Amino acid sequence: MKQPTVFEIINLTPKNNCEKCGYKTCMAFAVALLTGKIKAEKCPYIKLEGLKNLGLNSATKQKLSIDPDTALLKELKSKISNVNLEKIAKDLGANIIKTKEGVNLKLLYLGENIIISHNSITREDLKELDPRDQILLYNYVYFGGKGELSGQWVGLESFPNSISKVNTLKKYTEDKLAQYFGDNIDELYKKAKKLMAQKLRVCHADICLEIPALPKVPLQIHFWGKDIEEGFDAQVKILFDSRAIKFLDIESLVFTAERMAEKLMG
Ligand code: SF4
Repeated sequence: MKQPTVFEIINLTPKNNCEKCGYKTCMAFAVALLTGKIKAEKCPYIKLEGLKNLGLNSATKQKLSIDPDTALLKELKSKISNVNLEKIAKDLGANIIKTKEGVNLKLLYLGENIIISHNSITREDLKELDPRDQILLYNYVYFGGKGELSGQWVGLESFPNSISKVNTLKKYTEDKLAQYFGDNIDELYKKAKKLMAQKLRVCHADICLEIPALPKVPLQIHFWGKDIEEGFDAQVKILFDSRAIKFLDIESLVFTAERMAEKLMG
């Protein structure tokens, strides 16, 4: 029987990132299961019958000795191996670079130029990219979104099946940014400019910024600074274009916001 894929495992979970298994996301759990780091029953909701059909024993760890990130990257690479990069470039907001080896895509990701080929994802200066970013970018290519953005900004809660992800976004992005920057709005703006942020003219918060995280996945940060005199803590709300969901799955959208926050706080 062929080895199950990460996506097949994820589809057996409720995909709600509840963290009861000890991992932040169902995707991380699926990778851990496939690489022998965790037993299936650590997720109380996983469909055991489905696991059996995939040839996995729920009670025993799988014995594969590959790193989780490498396993997922390998899988994603094979999934995009037949994708026509030239054909999807425009829809993804990427430029085409033709080389002797074939067609590459060049796109802006969180303030950096990235080169994507069927075999690798690197920065333009060829420096290695964090595997988590590579996974996100392969997902962006594999998703193969089409069309333009709507220009309508919405909270994550507007997307279908987003309830648990709203909590993840709040915990790992919005609350962390609020806590980190507190009343230091200038510092937030300074860091955001490195990610090519634009300040919004119309803003009901203390500062509103638009960051082109990916060409078709821009993010808005609405930031209310901490007010010691009034006793208000800082607050952050992240907004997405209402068509962002056509370019990445909801879990990847949340992860994009998380990476943006990490870069701002780095
Ligand atoms: S326990 Fe883990 S794998 Fe199961 S739903 Fe929660 S986060 Fe996902």
